[in-house]
Amino acid sequence: MRKLFILSLLLAFFSFTVDKGINNSAHTCASSWGFYGHKRINRMAVFTLPPELFSFYKSNIEFITEHAVDPDKRRYAAEGEAPRHYIDIDHYVNEDEDPFTVVPEKWDEAVRKYSQDTLEAYGIVPWHIEVMTNRLTKAFRNKDLDNILRLSADIGHYIGDAHVPLHTTENYNGQLTGQLGIHGFWESRIPELIAEDWDYFVGQASYIEAPLNRAWEIIKQSHYALDSVLAFEKELTTAFDTDKKYSFENRGAVIMKVYSIEFTKAYNAKLNGMVERRMQQSIQSVGSFWYSAWIKAGKPDLEDLLSKPISKKLDEEFSRVNAAHNARKIKGRIHNE
Ligand SMILES: [Zn+2]
Repeated sequence: MRKLFILSLLLAFFSFTVDKGINNSAHTCASSWGFYGHKRINRMAVFTLPPELFSFYKSNIEFITEHAVDPDKRRYAAEGEAPRHYIDIDHYVNEDEDPFTVVPEKWDEAVRKYSQDTLEAYGIVPWHIEVMTNRLTKAFRNKDLDNILRLSADIGHYIGDAHVPLHTTENYNGQLTGQLGIHGFWESRIPELIAEDWDYFVGQASYIEAPLNRAWEIIKQSHYALDSVLAFEKELTTAFDTDKKYSFENRGAVIMKVYSIEFTKAYNAKLNGMVERRMQQSIQSVGSFWYSAWIKAGKPDLEDLLSKPISKKLDEEFSRVNAAHNARKIKGRIHNE
Protein backbone atom coordinates (compact mmCIF):
# COMPACT_ATOMS: atom_id res chain seq x y z
CA MET A 1 0.00 0.00 0.00
CA ARG A 2 2.72 2.37 1.05
CA LYS A 3 4.74 1.50 -2.05
CA LEU A 4 1.73 2.12 -4.23
CA PHE A 5 1.17 5.44 -2.57
CA ILE A 6 4.75 6.56 -3.17
CA LEU A 7 4.65 5.39 -6.76
CA SER A 8 1.45 7.26 -7.39
CA LEU A 9 2.97 10.43 -5.93
CA LEU A 10 5.93 10.06 -8.22
CA LEU A 11 3.77 9.44 -11.24
CA ALA A 12 1.44 12.25 -10.35
CA PHE A 13 4.32 14.65 -10.13
CA PHE A 14 5.88 13.53 -13.36
CA SER A 15 2.64 13.68 -15.26
CA PHE A 16 1.81 17.05 -13.83
CA THR A 17 5.10 18.40 -15.09
CA VAL A 18 4.57 17.18 -18.61
CA ASP A 19 0.91 17.92 -18.76
CA LYS A 20 1.24 21.52 -17.74
CA GLY A 21 4.35 21.99 -19.80
CA ILE A 22 5.92 23.63 -16.81
CA ASN A 23 8.19 22.84 -14.01
CA ASN A 24 8.73 26.08 -12.22
CA SER A 25 11.94 24.63 -10.95
CA ALA A 26 13.36 21.16 -10.97
CA HIS A 27 15.59 22.61 -8.32
CA THR A 28 12.70 23.15 -5.97
CA CYS A 29 10.09 20.64 -7.12
CA ALA A 30 11.33 17.46 -8.68
CA SER A 31 12.39 14.47 -6.75
CA SER A 32 15.56 13.68 -8.63
CA TRP A 33 15.88 10.06 -9.73
CA GLY A 34 12.30 9.79 -8.54
CA PHE A 35 11.61 8.22 -5.17
CA TYR A 36 12.06 4.84 -6.81
CA GLY A 37 15.58 5.58 -8.04
CA HIS A 38 16.90 7.12 -4.85
CA LYS A 39 15.64 4.26 -2.75
CA ARG A 40 17.10 1.73 -5.13
CA ILE A 41 20.49 3.47 -5.11
CA ASN A 42 20.76 3.53 -1.30
CA ARG A 43 19.52 -0.03 -0.96
CA MET A 44 21.90 -1.51 -3.52
CA ALA A 45 24.86 0.49 -2.17
CA VAL A 46 24.69 -1.72 0.95
CA PHE A 47 25.72 -4.68 -1.21
CA THR A 48 28.95 -2.98 -2.30
CA LEU A 49 30.31 -2.98 1.26
CA PRO A 50 33.02 -5.25 2.70
CA PRO A 51 32.00 -7.73 5.44
CA GLU A 52 33.09 -5.48 8.35
CA LEU A 53 30.53 -2.87 7.35
CA PHE A 54 27.99 -4.99 5.52
CA SER A 55 26.32 -6.51 8.59
CA PHE A 56 25.69 -3.09 10.14
CA TYR A 57 24.21 -1.61 6.95
CA LYS A 58 22.32 -4.78 6.12
CA SER A 59 20.60 -4.75 9.49
CA ASN A 60 19.58 -1.14 8.81
CA ILE A 61 18.79 -1.53 5.13
CA GLU A 62 15.11 -0.59 5.49
CA PHE A 63 16.05 2.66 7.19
CA ILE A 64 18.72 3.50 4.61
CA THR A 65 16.26 2.76 1.80
CA GLU A 66 13.25 4.55 3.26
CA HIS A 67 15.17 7.70 4.17
CA ALA A 68 16.91 8.02 0.80
CA VAL A 69 14.32 10.63 -0.12
CA ASP A 70 14.39 12.71 3.07
CA PRO A 71 16.53 15.46 1.51
CA ASP A 72 13.86 16.00 -1.16
CA LYS A 73 11.16 16.04 1.50
CA ARG A 74 13.14 18.58 3.50
CA ARG A 75 13.10 20.99 0.58
CA TYR A 76 9.63 21.90 1.75
CA ALA A 77 10.59 22.33 5.36
CA ALA A 78 14.17 23.53 5.62
CA GLU A 79 15.68 26.78 4.49
CA GLY A 80 18.86 26.26 2.50
CA GLU A 81 18.04 22.67 1.51
CA ALA A 82 17.33 23.19 -2.19
CA PRO A 83 20.83 24.19 -3.43
CA ARG A 84 22.40 21.10 -1.88
CA HIS A 85 20.96 18.97 -4.70
CA TYR A 86 22.58 20.51 -7.79
CA ILE A 87 25.16 22.88 -9.23
CA ASP A 88 24.47 25.03 -12.28
CA ILE A 89 28.09 24.85 -13.27
CA ASP A 90 27.53 26.43 -16.70
CA HIS A 91 26.29 29.60 -15.04
CA TYR A 92 29.88 30.61 -14.38
CA VAL A 93 31.25 30.45 -17.93
CA ASN A 94 30.65 31.32 -21.56
CA GLU A 95 29.86 28.48 -23.90
CA ASP A 96 33.45 28.04 -25.09
CA GLU A 97 34.97 27.87 -21.60
CA ASP A 98 35.52 24.82 -19.39
CA PRO A 99 33.71 25.48 -16.10
CA PHE A 100 35.91 22.98 -14.29
CA THR A 101 39.00 25.11 -14.80
CA VAL A 102 37.14 28.32 -13.92
CA VAL A 103 35.18 27.39 -10.77
CA PRO A 104 37.52 26.70 -7.83
CA GLU A 105 37.27 23.23 -6.37
CA LYS A 106 37.57 24.41 -2.78
CA TRP A 107 34.67 26.14 -1.06
CA ASP A 108 36.70 29.02 0.47
CA GLU A 109 38.27 29.90 -2.85
CA ALA A 110 34.94 29.70 -4.63
CA VAL A 111 33.37 31.98 -1.99
CA ARG A 112 36.19 34.49 -2.47
CA LYS A 113 35.69 34.43 -6.21
CA TYR A 114 31.87 34.49 -6.40
CA SER A 115 30.46 35.13 -2.86
CA GLN A 116 28.53 32.67 -0.76
CA ASP A 117 25.17 34.07 -1.90
CA THR A 118 26.00 33.39 -5.53
CA LEU A 119 27.18 29.86 -4.83
CA GLU A 120 24.02 29.15 -2.88
CA ALA A 121 21.89 30.59 -5.66
CA TYR A 122 23.40 28.24 -8.27
CA GLY A 123 23.86 25.14 -6.16
CA ILE A 124 26.45 23.63 -3.86
CA VAL A 125 26.20 19.86 -4.25
CA PRO A 126 29.94 18.99 -4.51
CA TRP A 127 30.82 20.98 -1.41
CA HIS A 128 27.86 19.61 0.48
CA ILE A 129 28.96 16.06 -0.25
CA GLU A 130 32.30 16.90 1.36
CA VAL A 131 30.63 18.41 4.42
CA MET A 132 28.41 15.36 4.79
CA THR A 133 31.35 12.97 4.46
CA ASN A 134 33.17 14.77 7.27
CA ARG A 135 30.06 14.63 9.46
CA LEU A 136 29.64 10.94 8.75
CA THR A 137 33.27 10.30 9.69
CA LYS A 138 32.66 12.07 12.98
CA ALA A 139 29.50 10.06 13.61
CA PHE A 140 31.42 6.82 13.02
CA ARG A 141 34.16 7.97 15.36
CA ASN A 142 31.57 8.66 18.10
CA LYS A 143 29.60 5.50 17.29
CA ASP A 144 26.60 7.80 17.10
CA LEU A 145 23.89 5.54 15.67
CA ASP A 146 21.33 8.26 14.85
CA ASN A 147 23.81 10.29 12.88
CA ILE A 148 25.49 7.36 11.15
CA LEU A 149 22.11 6.29 9.78
CA ARG A 150 20.72 9.71 9.03
CA LEU A 151 23.89 10.93 7.33
CA SER A 152 24.38 7.70 5.37
CA ALA A 153 20.87 7.98 3.96
CA ASP A 154 21.28 11.68 3.19
CA ILE A 155 24.68 11.46 1.54
CA GLY A 156 23.36 8.66 -0.67
CA HIS A 157 20.73 11.07 -1.91
CA TYR A 158 23.13 13.92 -2.72
CA ILE A 159 25.59 11.59 -4.44
CA GLY A 160 22.73 10.19 -6.53
CA ASP A 161 21.72 13.70 -7.53
CA ALA A 162 25.28 14.59 -8.52
CA HIS A 163 25.21 11.73 -11.06
CA VAL A 164 22.31 13.28 -12.97
CA PRO A 165 23.47 15.42 -15.94
CA LEU A 166 20.51 17.79 -15.63
CA HIS A 167 21.58 18.58 -12.06
CA THR A 168 24.64 20.37 -13.42
CA THR A 169 23.08 23.03 -15.63
CA GLU A 170 20.93 26.14 -15.63
CA ASN A 171 18.93 24.45 -18.39
CA TYR A 172 17.85 21.86 -15.84
CA ASN A 173 14.48 21.15 -17.38
CA GLY A 174 15.22 21.95 -21.01
CA GLN A 175 13.44 25.27 -20.50
CA LEU A 176 16.15 27.19 -22.41
CA THR A 177 16.10 24.88 -25.44
CA GLY A 178 12.39 24.16 -25.93
CA GLN A 179 12.59 20.75 -24.23
CA LEU A 180 10.46 21.31 -21.16
CA GLY A 181 9.87 18.16 -19.18
CA ILE A 182 13.19 16.49 -20.04
CA HIS A 183 14.28 16.46 -16.38
CA GLY A 184 11.56 14.08 -15.26
CA PHE A 185 11.80 12.25 -18.58
CA TRP A 186 15.45 11.29 -18.07
CA GLU A 187 15.48 10.57 -14.37
CA SER A 188 11.95 9.35 -13.62
CA ARG A 189 10.12 8.19 -16.74
CA ILE A 190 12.98 6.03 -18.04
CA PRO A 191 13.58 4.29 -14.69
CA GLU A 192 9.83 3.96 -14.18
CA LEU A 193 9.46 2.02 -17.43
CA ILE A 194 12.77 0.20 -17.73
CA ALA A 195 14.75 0.08 -14.47
CA GLU A 196 13.35 -3.23 -13.26
CA ASP A 197 15.48 -4.95 -15.92
CA TRP A 198 18.73 -3.25 -14.98
CA ASP A 199 21.72 -4.80 -13.30
CA TYR A 200 22.35 -3.39 -9.83
CA PHE A 201 25.27 -5.51 -8.72
CA VAL A 202 28.05 -3.10 -9.41
CA GLY A 203 31.10 -4.48 -7.63
CA GLN A 204 32.74 -3.40 -4.42
CA ALA A 205 33.05 -0.08 -2.68
CA SER A 206 36.53 1.39 -2.84
CA TYR A 207 38.38 3.87 -0.65
CA ILE A 208 38.16 7.53 -1.63
CA GLU A 209 41.18 9.50 -0.51
CA ALA A 210 39.83 12.95 -1.39
CA PRO A 211 36.02 13.17 -1.15
CA LEU A 212 35.75 16.72 -2.51
CA ASN A 213 37.83 15.85 -5.54
CA ARG A 214 35.71 12.74 -6.17
CA ALA A 215 32.51 14.77 -5.85
CA TRP A 216 33.83 17.12 -8.55
CA GLU A 217 34.74 14.16 -10.75
CA ILE A 218 31.16 12.96 -10.52
CA ILE A 219 29.82 16.41 -11.45
CA LYS A 220 32.25 16.59 -14.35
CA GLN A 221 31.13 13.24 -15.78
CA SER A 222 27.50 14.27 -15.39
CA HIS A 223 28.09 17.58 -17.09
CA TYR A 224 29.98 16.06 -19.99
CA ALA A 225 26.98 13.78 -20.63
CA LEU A 226 24.62 16.74 -20.85
CA ASP A 227 25.14 17.38 -24.58
CA SER A 228 23.85 13.89 -25.44
CA VAL A 229 20.96 14.15 -23.00
CA LEU A 230 19.67 17.27 -24.77
CA ALA A 231 20.74 16.57 -28.36
CA PHE A 232 19.29 13.05 -28.54
CA GLU A 233 15.91 14.20 -27.26
CA LYS A 234 15.89 16.91 -29.91
CA GLU A 235 16.84 14.53 -32.72
CA LEU A 236 14.16 12.05 -31.70
CA THR A 237 11.54 14.76 -31.41
CA THR A 238 12.24 15.69 -35.03
CA ALA A 239 11.99 12.06 -36.08
CA PHE A 240 8.74 11.36 -34.17
CA ASP A 241 5.25 12.58 -35.01
CA THR A 242 4.00 14.71 -32.14
CA ASP A 243 1.13 12.34 -31.52
CA LYS A 244 3.65 9.51 -31.10
CA LYS A 245 5.94 11.42 -28.73
CA TYR A 246 3.31 11.67 -26.02
CA SER A 247 0.55 9.37 -24.95
CA PHE A 248 -2.22 9.43 -22.38
CA GLU A 249 -2.28 7.18 -19.39
CA ASN A 250 -4.85 6.58 -16.73
CA ARG A 251 -3.51 7.56 -13.35
CA GLY A 252 -6.17 6.90 -10.78
CA ALA A 253 -9.09 9.11 -11.65
CA VAL A 254 -7.10 11.34 -13.97
CA ILE A 255 -5.90 10.96 -17.54
CA MET A 256 -2.35 12.27 -17.87
CA LYS A 257 -0.20 13.24 -20.81
CA VAL A 258 3.14 11.42 -20.59
CA TYR A 259 6.09 10.64 -22.85
CA SER A 260 4.98 7.58 -24.81
CA ILE A 261 6.51 4.18 -24.15
CA GLU A 262 7.77 4.11 -27.73
CA PHE A 263 9.50 7.50 -27.41
CA THR A 264 10.93 6.62 -24.00
CA LYS A 265 12.39 3.35 -25.25
CA ALA A 266 13.82 5.01 -28.36
CA TYR A 267 15.45 7.70 -26.21
CA ASN A 268 16.88 5.17 -23.80
CA ALA A 269 18.30 3.17 -26.71
CA LYS A 270 19.88 6.28 -28.20
CA LEU A 271 21.45 7.10 -24.84
CA ASN A 272 22.98 3.65 -25.05
CA GLY A 273 22.49 2.69 -21.41
CA MET A 274 23.48 6.07 -19.96
CA VAL A 275 20.71 6.21 -17.36
CA GLU A 276 21.43 2.68 -16.17
CA ARG A 277 25.16 3.44 -16.08
CA ARG A 278 24.70 6.63 -14.04
CA MET A 279 22.52 4.72 -11.63
CA GLN A 280 25.11 1.95 -11.29
CA GLN A 281 27.86 4.51 -10.77
CA SER A 282 25.69 6.21 -8.13
CA ILE A 283 25.41 2.92 -6.25
CA GLN A 284 29.13 2.28 -6.36
CA SER A 285 29.91 5.87 -5.29
CA VAL A 286 27.49 5.82 -2.36
CA GLY A 287 29.01 2.61 -1.01
CA SER A 288 32.48 4.05 -1.47
CA PHE A 289 31.70 7.28 0.39
CA TRP A 290 30.22 5.34 3.34
CA TYR A 291 33.17 2.98 3.38
CA SER A 292 35.71 5.81 3.20
CA ALA A 293 34.09 7.75 6.06
CA TRP A 294 34.31 4.62 8.19
CA ILE A 295 37.99 4.08 7.32
CA LYS A 296 38.80 7.73 8.03
CA ALA A 297 37.12 7.27 11.43
CA GLY A 298 39.59 4.49 12.24
CA LYS A 299 37.38 1.51 11.29
CA PRO A 300 35.29 1.44 14.50
CA ASP A 301 33.70 -1.86 15.44
CA LEU A 302 29.93 -1.39 15.02
CA GLU A 303 28.94 -4.71 16.57
CA ASP A 304 27.44 -3.13 19.70
CA LEU A 305 25.22 -0.83 17.61
CA LEU A 306 23.51 -3.72 15.88
CA SER A 307 20.79 -4.19 18.47
CA LYS A 308 20.29 -0.49 19.23
CA PRO A 309 17.20 1.34 17.93
CA ILE A 310 17.27 4.96 16.75
CA SER A 311 16.39 7.56 19.36
CA LYS A 312 12.89 8.85 20.02
CA LYS A 313 14.12 12.33 19.16
CA LEU A 314 15.17 11.32 15.66
CA ASP A 315 11.94 9.47 15.14
CA GLU A 316 9.99 12.60 16.04
CA GLU A 317 12.11 14.67 13.69
CA PHE A 318 11.20 12.33 10.81
CA SER A 319 7.52 12.70 11.62
CA ARG A 320 7.86 16.50 11.44
CA VAL A 321 9.61 16.36 8.05
CA ASN A 322 6.92 14.06 6.69
CA ALA A 323 4.13 16.26 7.98
CA ALA A 324 5.69 19.40 6.49
CA HIS A 325 6.30 17.61 3.21
CA ASN A 326 2.73 16.41 2.94
CA ALA A 327 1.22 19.77 3.86
CA ARG A 328 3.46 21.74 1.51
CA LYS A 329 2.99 19.33 -1.35
CA ILE A 330 -0.71 19.97 -1.40
CA LYS A 331 -0.24 23.71 -1.21
CA GLY A 332 2.33 23.60 -4.02
CA ARG A 333 -0.04 21.82 -6.35
CA ILE A 334 -2.86 24.26 -5.82
CA HIS A 335 -0.50 27.16 -6.24
CA ASN A 336 0.92 25.77 -9.48
CA GLU A 337 -2.44 25.02 -10.97
ZN1 LIG B 1 17.46 15.67 -4.62
